[in-house]
Amino acid sequence: MSNQSTTKEHVLVVGAGYAGLRAALNLAPHVRVTLIDPADRFTERVRLHEKATGRPDVTHSLRTFLRPAGITHIPALISRIDTASAEVHTDTGRVLGYDRLVYALGSRTAGVGGPGASHERVYTAESAAELHKRLLDGPGSLAVVGGGLTGIELATELAEFQPRWQVQLITGGEIAPSVSDKARAHIRSVLVDRGVRIEEHRRVDGPQDIDADVVVWSASMIPNTELAIASGLDVDARGQIRVNSALRSVSHPGIYVAGDAAAAQTPSSGPIRMACATALPLGAHAAASVVRDLRGEDPKPLQFSYKAQCISLGRHDGMIQLVREDDSPRDLCLTGKPAAMVKEQVVRNTVRTLRVASRSPRAAGLLPGN
Ligand SMILES: Cc1cc2nc3c(=O)[nH]c(=O)nc-3n(C[C@H](O)[C@H](O)[C@H](O)COP(=O)(O)OP(=O)(O)OC[C@H]3O[C@@H](n4cnc5c(N)ncnc54)[C@H](O)[C@@H]3O)c2cc1C
Repeated sequence: MSNQSTTKEHVLVVGAGYAGLRAALNLAPHVRVTLIDPADRFTERVRLHEKATGRPDVTHSLRTFLRPAGITHIPALISRIDTASAEVHTDTGRVLGYDRLVYALGSRTAGVGGPGASHERVYTAESAAELHKRLLDGPGSLAVVGGGLTGIELATELAEFQPRWQVQLITGGEIAPSVSDKARAHIRSVLVDRGVRIEEHRRVDGPQDIDADVVVWSASMIPNTELAIASGLDVDARGQIRVNSALRSVSHPGIYVAGDAAAAQTPSSGPIRMACATALPLGAHAAASVVRDLRGEDPKPLQFSYKAQCISLGRHDGMIQLVREDDSPRDLCLTGKPAAMVKEQVVRNTVRTLRVASRSPRAAGLLPGN
């Protein structure tokens, strides 16, 4: 994409996670960009299980990404989107107009209610730090609920770094349903080696059903789309905003959506899952679509296909599950220390990609995984 100027147009990006930051950086050479997020630091959410077990910091100064790109940051929460006047209201009383809006408010772990439902969740730097504080009061028993990849990463990390705690992993089905039998067998053996008690096929309604000192709920992610719903945007049954192949809201054409908040799909991949691995390319595509739209050009459809699922199993083991275009597992997987090293490089590469995008968005698009 050339740098042909549309510079007077103002694009507001809400949410400075993987998707929002990537979109803002890719837009910056073409339009005036304002990014709204309450934090002045970018959180590496894929490292939150490391933060929960004591890694000192998993954040980076937002300014170091935004300054080279000339992006304005407004430190605030958005509280309302007025789609009729094309304005966003913040909790600090500001009202900002936009020519186009990129909605990238991400997701959170679902909370569970009910009496005696005290539980931890790990989905922000603050919630991860909170769990770490609880663990320092230990030892005791700890249950992670949710046998998906995030729950497995949490359980193995907790067992490795908090060996005095008795860790169990509870899940309604079998653990790691998205990987091959061979990969699942490896994950089971690592959990058992770390002393994690696995309870599969046990459905629990909330922490009150579990006999443990600390319950960490990691059972499902829900999109942060309440503000979009309140503004009348069309969402699917899961609450993700319905978008077309340009990632444009199907109900509100001035709004584009990226990351976990978007119900994105392609013919080859099917529905795109909530992940850092998908948030970055979705952010880049939303930015490209906005620029084409403002120039009066036809949108290009999103192209995306899955290649691998990368799982850390503590700091010394991991699982790289190769997958088909539609994310279904192939028979090939890498395990052990080499997999842990690959996973670490993949995680580092996300921040590298954002750093490169801050200086040269075109070059960032050429990096693997983009
Ligand atoms: C413990 C853990 C481990 C994970 N591991 C992996 C992994 O290994 N691989 C992988 O691909 N994915 C992983 N994920 C999932 C991944 O982190 C998310 O899918 C990804 O962060 C989504 O990116 P996003 O940009 O859509 O949202 P986020 O990264 O969540 O960013 C959303 C941003 O919006 C901001 N925001 C929210 N509300 C408002 C508001 N009202 N106003 C302004 N700003 C707001 C937030 O402050 C945040 O900065 C993991 C998640 C967790 C919790």
